[in-house]
Amino acid sequence: MDKQILMANLSWVDYQKRVQNGKEAVLLPIGAIEQHGPHLPLATDLLFAEAIAKRCADAIGAIVAPTITYGCKSQCRSGGGNHFCGTTSLDAKTMIDHLVDVVREFARHGVRKLGLIDIHYENDMYVLEACDLAIRELKYAGITDFKIVKPNVNVILDLERLRPFYPEGFSSIALEHAGKLETSVMLYLHPELVQQDRYPPDVFAHFPPYDTFPPETQHVPPSGALCPTSGASRELGETVILNLADGCATAFRQGFAV
Ligand code: MN
Repeated sequence: MDKQILMANLSWVDYQKRVQNGKEAVLLPIGAIEQHGPHLPLATDLLFAEAIAKRCADAIGAIVAPTITYGCKSQCRSGGGNHFCGTTSLDAKTMIDHLVDVVREFARHGVRKLGLIDIHYENDMYVLEACDLAIRELKYAGITDFKIVKPNVNVILDLERLRPFYPEGFSSIALEHAGKLETSVMLYLHPELVQQDRYPPDVFAHFPPYDTFPPETQHVPPSGALCPTSGASRELGETVILNLADGCATAFRQGFAV
């Protein structure tokens, strides 16, 4: 029988057996609740992170912890911005505190290998800060063998492998939010959640070379999608997911081995 990979479904006794003394790695998906155009669910980043984490757990033999659901504030040029209804965000300091608390608890229960899968761009530096603070705190508490591995999904995403799907080139990769790539991923993972009759008009967002506060939301396409969805396909989504799942599993094997 396959081992149960979801922490949330384990009894405490079974969880303890598997993680005490640092036996098994725990993988923690980190997501966001953020608009992804009129056609994709608010949970797109979260579902994406969970899918990668589950595939990695199968591949390396690990447990998937319940997802960090809310993410750091959406920014106009990467996620459309925090002004969209439904984009429900944390302050960065809340995210950092939340993550440090959870890491401390994992460590207290015996986990020594923690893998992070973060798909929401705006989380990135705050997740890294939380990791640094948590490791520092654990060190002061005498725990020096706790290791966090966070694959860099932007490096792992192999644009060469995706090239057949982008005969027009990758002009949209920096703006990829609710566009062809994320729509494809959702067509592969959760086609029932993609409203194909609601694809937004194909436009690229254009931003000035500065940010403002309050944000100038007029630069953001009203749909919330920052680049075209045309050409989205289940096949592209599958290629992205397999690429990232393989790459992250390899990163975990390497990172936890040393
Ligand atoms: Mn996002």
